[in-house]
Amino acid sequence: MHSPTLSSSAVKEAAAAVGFDACGIAAATPLSEEEWGYAEWLRNGYHADMAYMEQYRDLRADPSLLLPGAQSVIVLLLGYKPSCLMEGPARIAQYAYGEDYHERIKRMLFQLIAAIQLQHPDFQAKPCVDTVPISDKQWALRAGLGWIGRNTLLVNPTLGSYCNIGELVTASPADHYDTPLSNRCADCHACVDACPNHAITHTAHTHIPLLDATRCASYHTIENRAETLPPHIRLSGYAFGCDCCQLVCPYNRQAAVRYTLTPERKAQLEALAEADPAAFRRFTKHSALNRIRHSQWRRNQDS
Ligand code: SF4
Ligand code: SF4
Repeated sequence: MHSPTLSSSAVKEAAAAVGFDACGIAAATPLSEEEWGYAEWLRNGYHADMAYMEQYRDLRADPSLLLPGAQSVIVLLLGYKPSCLMEGPARIAQYAYGEDYHERIKRMLFQLIAAIQLQHPDFQAKPCVDTVPISDKQWALRAGLGWIGRNTLLVNPTLGSYCNIGELVTASPADHYDTPLSNRCADCHACVDACPNHAITHTAHTHIPLLDATRCASYHTIENRAETLPPHIRLSGYAFGCDCCQLVCPYNRQAAVRYTLTPERKAQLEALAEADPAAFRRFTKHSALNRIRHSQWRRNQDS
């Protein structure tokens, strides 16, 4: 099928009209270990028991294995900084306050495809939001949307690290590709110092930031399915995820609010602390909290 050449500016206009906060486009050439550090991350066992991270390594590095003939990766950011923080005994990572970002971003990616097809009826793309093995942060970096901060997350100059990432992988070339921003962490180490578990590290020689999931509260509260958690892992009151390394980031402090936490939603989230399994399932159906079971939710609160 004919793959039309995309106007980069027209795609970005369409992305903004759909509601994305930022859009960048990268050429779909394979990622190298030097820019990525993925092999070293795996070699060090920093993926803990997430065996699925060892799978599809070739696909993670090369989008043309996800979509034959891939020419471009269109990367979209959606900010989630909430209007206020939830405190209390069962803290939840801020990205999970609102609707499940997988559902929201997927819907928006299909809207963007439809918008581009108004100009180019032959346009086709594979939408990706966590469910496809693709390295979101690296493609966002390539697409000029930020840098990989010492907190190991993408840091966008406007949204900070409070943003979720989605991609469209397409066989269409673009008339312009974005280039990576330089790293602006400078001599700040606030996130490294704030981590209660010393989970933030880096590659030995190239100093690419790496997260040691075996030490990370976010990994343990979400991915670890064991009946009990290692006693030395400090959860800082979180029962889902952990934001300690993000709360201190100067780029996050100055980021614009992108989600209004209504009194109704706040009350729903507060009620979760005592929810029984059925109520928990009902509420989390359209929430990022659906990644964990009620038994994990209880375990995390008791840890
Ligand atoms: S999420 Fe929490 S435990 Fe994990 S690296 Fe950040 S501060 Fe450390
Ligand atoms: S807290 Fe400082 S070092 Fe960490 S990501 Fe933010 S700017 Fe970079």
